[in-house]
Amino acid sequence: MSLIYVIMGVSGSGKTTVGKVLANQLGFPFLDADDFHPQANIDKMQAGKALNDKDRKPWLESLNQELKKHKDTGVVLACSALKASYRESLEEGIKVHWTHLAGDFELIQARMQLRSHFMPASLLQSQFDTLEPLESGLTLDIDSDVEFLVHMIRAKYETKGPAHWGIVGMGVMGQSLARNSVNAGIRTAVFNRATEGEELVIAKMLTKYPDPKLYGYTDWKEFTAKLSLPRKILLMVPAGKAIDAVLEELLPFLSPGDCIVDGGNSHFSDTQRRIQELIERDIEYLGMGVSGGEKGALEGPAMMPGGSKVAFNALQPILDKIAAKDPKGNPCVGYLGQGGCGHLVKTVHNGIEYAEMQLLAEVYSLLLASDIPRSEFGSIFNDWDQGEYSSYLLGLMPSIMNKKEGDAYLIDKILPMAGAKGTGAWTSITALENGQDMSISTAAVNARNHSQAIWHKFPQIQENHRKPSRGVKLELERILKGYQAARILNHLQGLQFIHTMGTISNWDLDLSEVTRIWTNGCILKSQLIELLTEKIAADFDHLNLWSYNCYIALFQDFKYTLNLGWQNDIHMPVFNAAWQYGLGVSSAESNANIIQAQRDFFGAHTYKRKDHHPSENFHTDWTKP
Ligand code: NAP
Repeated sequence: MSLIYVIMGVSGSGKTTVGKVLANQLGFPFLDADDFHPQANIDKMQAGKALNDKDRKPWLESLNQELKKHKDTGVVLACSALKASYRESLEEGIKVHWTHLAGDFELIQARMQLRSHFMPASLLQSQFDTLEPLESGLTLDIDSDVEFLVHMIRAKYETKGPAHWGIVGMGVMGQSLARNSVNAGIRTAVFNRATEGEELVIAKMLTKYPDPKLYGYTDWKEFTAKLSLPRKILLMVPAGKAIDAVLEELLPFLSPGDCIVDGGNSHFSDTQRRIQELIERDIEYLGMGVSGGEKGALEGPAMMPGGSKVAFNALQPILDKIAAKDPKGNPCVGYLGQGGCGHLVKTVHNGIEYAEMQLLAEVYSLLLASDIPRSEFGSIFNDWDQGEYSSYLLGLMPSIMNKKEGDAYLIDKILPMAGAKGTGAWTSITALENGQDMSISTAAVNARNHSQAIWHKFPQIQENHRKPSRGVKLELERILKGYQAARILNHLQGLQFIHTMGTISNWDLDLSEVTRIWTNGCILKSQLIELLTEKIAADFDHLNLWSYNCYIALFQDFKYTLNLGWQNDIHMPVFNAAWQYGLGVSSAESNANIIQAQRDFFGAHTYKRKDHHPSENFHTDWTKP
């Protein structure tokens, strides 16, 4: 696909004006052919003598050389190029998009006179006489405004090529990703089903965001025909049945080697199943978590792909362009491993996110119980959002705290019933199914469930049992440290879980890529994630050691924060879960031996002994003294 545009025409046709606007829109340099004449030609023209074909030869050669320099990055050249032979010289060894700005003699002469550009009628006439029309390319009537002419040029040449990729599902995320992709210069075909009442989704989108690089379809055949091979198709439809329904409709139009990416929040086991099913049909399938919501999708999301490496390699140039950038400027996307690992990583990302959000909610409860005026809450969070503590979520809190409706704070008017789309629960369920401890994020899932299912059922208890605590003195610096201890344990628990799932599932999962991707474009973006990325890069044991050392250093402040909750009857389930997890990992004495004794007592489940090899099992008759 050529990136070289030449706008040709006689003097006064407007080729410089149109060329400059086109170059500006495409972000390409603009060249004026007149600037490339050798000195001998300049001298001849200044002496009022007409150039012959021999004079033009070195000029055309140097223009050709110049165009070649820009063939991979793009350029717009304004050049009279009146004869077919001149155009052949210009195009030698390269492909040019030709546009002829054509107009009749009287119009051009009148224009030149308007611009006080004097050219004898005979000279203009001789250009018209020399002019050989384009045999292929685009000829435009100059009797239109410049914007229209540029639009026509772009429509002709940019839409001519196949789309680099396609996106299915023009909902919140699909539309934003498509716009991001087009803004990054990627030709993007978009598809949305045309159910009754929804026929206009694509038409509305094309009207709202017109761009020659964006093509819309409601017909699978047309959509898939527009895509370059191997086809690369991103699905942005709801997880579950919708993905399977779309695959069923789409597959008949695909060819072996085509690549599909599921960018929704699919369950990783569904992704594993689809990978297997599609291998049979020679289709490469990638499961990719996309984070950052609507804004991230538009401005640069973090993306977590896993599955077919072939599909990832085919898509990487596109994904790199639309992704957020990490602190070193690298794209927040990278191949994580095989199978459904991309979707598992996104699921656990959300599980960690649930706990991070709930921790902030619990800090808010402490502030509410304190003697600190409400008007200062925003600035407290603002002060906290610095250096090693700063995070995307913490950065939201000042605005949330300060937002008012009239004289009242908006948060006081929001019903405290937290919604969820299910990925937090999936994290907990997957951990339980695989014998892992994700108690911190599970506490956050339960907190949301409690707020929805339980809280509103007990108004009398809430009214009669106790009044909320108020006026408590807080040492804010210590609470900040306690909050950081809980966050470190929350992240550590989630990363350990991902690591274990990678091992159990043989995904060959790259954990340092996981946290690197999370450094930008997602809700977990924070200084802590950047630090963890450095630690994991050393090795996973190093991360464990560092995290536990931090926890031990923050232990007393963590305890102080928990104590505030206990002493003032404040519901802090995630702080408590993190505290218990910390105690669990740092306690040399575990009480699980009592569980084993009970199991062996009533069920003869046997137990292992400290003083014997772990392969040996023992059973005791516990009724005998
Ligand atoms: P959305 O706004 O509800 O859009 C869903 C799109 O899928 C619509 O275009 C819809 O078409 C289409 N669709 C639904 N069922 C379909 C079916 N059976 N066949 C064909 N097309 C169907 O959803 P979204 O927020 O963009 O989310 C898309 C995916 O990204 C989900 O998996 C979601 O969990 C994930 N995600 C969302 C966010 C977020 O912040 N929104 C963030 C990260 C990930 P119609 O217009 O015809 O209904």
